[in-house]
Amino acid sequence: MATALDIAKHNTNAAPVSVSDSARAAARDALSRDALSIEKKAEFTVAAAGQSSLVGLTRDELKDKLAAIGVPEREQKMRVAQLWHWIYFRGAKDFDEMTNVGKPLRAALKDAYTLARPQVVSEQVSKDGTRKWLIRMASTGPLDKGAEIECVYIPETDRGTLCVSSQVGCTLTCSFCHTGTQRLVRNLTSAEIVAQLIVARDCIGDWPDATPPEGAFVPTDGGRFVSNIVFMGMGEPLYNTDNVVAAISVLSDNEGLGLSRRRITVSTSGVVPQMERLGAEANTMLAISLHAVRDDLRDVLVPINRKYDIAQLLDACRAYPGLSNARRITFEYVMLKGVNDSDADARELVRLLKGIPAKINLIPFNPWPGSKYECSDWERIERFSEIVFRAGYASPVRTPRGRDILAACGQLKSETEKLRARARMMAEQGIGAEGVYAVGNGE
Ligand code: SF4
Repeated sequence: MATALDIAKHNTNAAPVSVSDSARAAARDALSRDALSIEKKAEFTVAAAGQSSLVGLTRDELKDKLAAIGVPEREQKMRVAQLWHWIYFRGAKDFDEMTNVGKPLRAALKDAYTLARPQVVSEQVSKDGTRKWLIRMASTGPLDKGAEIECVYIPETDRGTLCVSSQVGCTLTCSFCHTGTQRLVRNLTSAEIVAQLIVARDCIGDWPDATPPEGAFVPTDGGRFVSNIVFMGMGEPLYNTDNVVAAISVLSDNEGLGLSRRRITVSTSGVVPQMERLGAEANTMLAISLHAVRDDLRDVLVPINRKYDIAQLLDACRAYPGLSNARRITFEYVMLKGVNDSDADARELVRLLKGIPAKINLIPFNPWPGSKYECSDWERIERFSEIVFRAGYASPVRTPRGRDILAACGQLKSETEKLRARARMMAEQGIGAEGVYAVGNGE
């Protein structure tokens, strides 16, 4: 869901991170600096051919990996706990860092596996401190160059939010969304979803004893630099529910990455049949990409509405497990000039949401090349917000972030797009889709 970035408060369960005072001072300085947007290359190792990375795996998957190299069953649970600590709490990049793991096992792990992260192809830093990474996942075969996705970090003084992707591209075609113009390549695995947080923490120095890059804007409240996760990047998370739920189990594990499930928000365009499962199994916060209060308009803006209309969607919201005033659903509403921004729309929105513990995020539309919509005028947004607010709903208007690097809501779109033409050509020649990435070079 490339919609809005709902940024909850800071994670009180977060493990402490040791960061020097000078680094924090530098970070504070960056708050006031009008830094230029820059782009730079980052270097990370990628898994050697034949070796798979353990980074991002669930406990069960790690257990299987240990079994595969002959670790006796009676030891596996303890060994998984050791690996878990080193990978997810300390951010280890080398098995030799694992000082409480015996040398023979370290050697065996090294022979069979890596701790490689997905490759950071490029990093862009907005003048407001927002960072966008183009991340290339490990190759899945000889003809696969690796799928590319984008991941965005939005720092504030008291929290840091990471917007992650759940799919490469998207099957849905929400007409206001840039990502929606890119066809689906594939679902991300749970490990690939988790790895986005690992990469982000590497890049901003969010591990014990690490420091952020010089001049980086990171939260200055003494907590973690990444305190919140929103599934609002590329793709529809509830079209990849298995992997999203598995990834959330890793992200929220208190012995590792330790993000509170209340600080993880999954945003859906309205995949009604999967909503209850998300609440029951992942127990995260829910956001709905609503954007219209009439079915005829939502059919156009969010075409999945033709399958699950507004009434069905709101019924599923009312039944969302754990829903309460303390766990309200966020309804995202992008403000489109002359399309969905009238007083009548605002009043209908209030009527529709009656009885649902809700928060409404009004999102000024972020134009992208080729988009057919304009952002509502500021006075209109204020008027709309006032009607909603007077009805008793919090209705914050999102400050667009990262506009200069196309990282704001609805603007995510990876270099994969540039490979489309090549994909078509190869399909015509009878070459499988996996070949696209072997030859495409972001041209
Ligand atoms: S097209 Fe719709 S579902 Fe897909 S990423 Fe964009 S807003 Fe989300």
